Amino acid sequence: MSGAKPIVLVVEDEAAQREVLSYNLEAEGFRVARAEDGEEAMLLFDEEQPDIVILDWMLPKLSGIEVCRQIKIRPETRGVPVIMLSARSEEVDRVRGLETGADDYVVKPYSVIELMARVRAQLRRTRPAAAGQQLEYQDILLDAETHRVTRDGQPLKLGPTEFRLLSTFMEKPGRVWSREQLLDRVWGRDVYVDTRTVDVHVGRLRKALSQHGGEDVLRTVRGAGYALG
Ligand code: CA
Repeated sequence: MSGAKPIVLVVEDEAAQREVLSYNLEAEGFRVARAEDGEEAMLLFDEEQPDIVILDWMLPKLSGIEVCRQIKIRPETRGVPVIMLSARSEEVDRVRGLETGADDYVVKPYSVIELMARVRAQLRRTRPAAAGQQLEYQDILLDAETHRVTRDGQPLKLGPTEFRLLSTFMEKPGRVWSREQLLDRVWGRDVYVDTRTVDVHVGRLRKALSQHGGEDVLRTVRGAGYALG
């Protein structure tokens, strides 16, 4: 896994299944948030801003269908992939019929290996750098697997933090990231780092990107943060 660790929200009321799934996801390099009912799922969803949700259908308090619907109804969260788990294939048919907007469906009992493959497939679409893909922005190429960055064909020297920053920017060109969002994504939520540290590393990244020339592609958005392009 390259780039900033993607966050997976696992919503499953059966403790044993929740733990097996979380263990496997962590072993694959994901950061995992765990919820055991639908209400906790919505709270954690807002708090953690996960990159993907694995959602059991039958849940206490708020059903998986309702959780999915709430995620998919909001324009700002609609793009987050949701993989629904359900006990029987007839249920999958029903969930499909309900048009919850889930991106994929998996029938229990599932193979963890297959579920991981489906998680990665969804993330290739939404978090290409984290999935080890190549990213391109103008004359800048970033290979998330080999950690190589070139600009106009020339290799660039980047520190590990600058590399993670750049992959975050390149995954969503034009998006304005606040310093706090960059901290969460690049440094991780459990690390205490001053927001000024972000400015320092963005400064380094800027310098690194222009080490062989080329215009400055990082934009400082006053009062908001930073954006690529
Ligand atoms: Ca359940």
